[in-house]
Amino acid sequence: MGKGTQAQRLSLALGIPHIATGDMLRAAVQSNTPLGLKVGAIISRGELVSDDTMVEVIKERLSRPDTVRGFLLDGFPRTTHQAEVLGKIFDEQGRKVDGVVVLDAPDEAIVQRIAGRRTCESCQASYHVLAKPPKVEGVCDRCGGVLIQRSDDNEETVRRRLKEYGTKTKPVIDYFKTHNWPMKPVDAIGDMDQVFGRIYAAIMLP
Ligand code: AMP
Repeated sequence: MGKGTQAQRLSLALGIPHIATGDMLRAAVQSNTPLGLKVGAIISRGELVSDDTMVEVIKERLSRPDTVRGFLLDGFPRTTHQAEVLGKIFDEQGRKVDGVVVLDAPDEAIVQRIAGRRTCESCQASYHVLAKPPKVEGVCDRCGGVLIQRSDDNEETVRRRLKEYGTKTKPVIDYFKTHNWPMKPVDAIGDMDQVFGRIYAAIMLP
């Protein structure tokens, strides 16, 4: 479990940039850009940011030169409309999708996991009070930054995020199926190394 951590690790292993729309939005919120001011409250409520805004964000990011040799998307597309826009960009650029990792975990496991999560304010490294505690409580092992709980990592908001996932994101699976984007279902229950091994195998094996 932990799509962000796994995505970061996979992008390092594959040598391609990790494009996480959630991280991009949170960075915008932290630095009070016009985008950040627009999306801060929406993220804290556990709702999805509008398609128009997300399409603008992803188009700008995918226009940068580091994406030429491939990239890993984390948290995008989250709606059928976003998938359609992405499909169009790929068609225009003559790109194909190598794999879509579909992490599978029961809602209750997700709630437990996310409610115990702590994130470094400075470098965004992720911890868990039980499963992956930092060496010193409240302090990031990696950079010494302060660990905080994300505004959308409390139980109530996680449940709203799961609801948003069910109504708006789950239908994206149908888009992947009809467009033959190769889906790689992965059991996300287990420790991080185990789950990473499954993801890596799913991506690398035919
Ligand atoms: P994440 O870090 O991927 O869990 O994203 C955190 C939050 O950012 C989500 O709960 C949404 O509010 C927002 N967000 C990130 N990516 C998207 C997207 N593709 N579409 C809409 N909202 C998004």
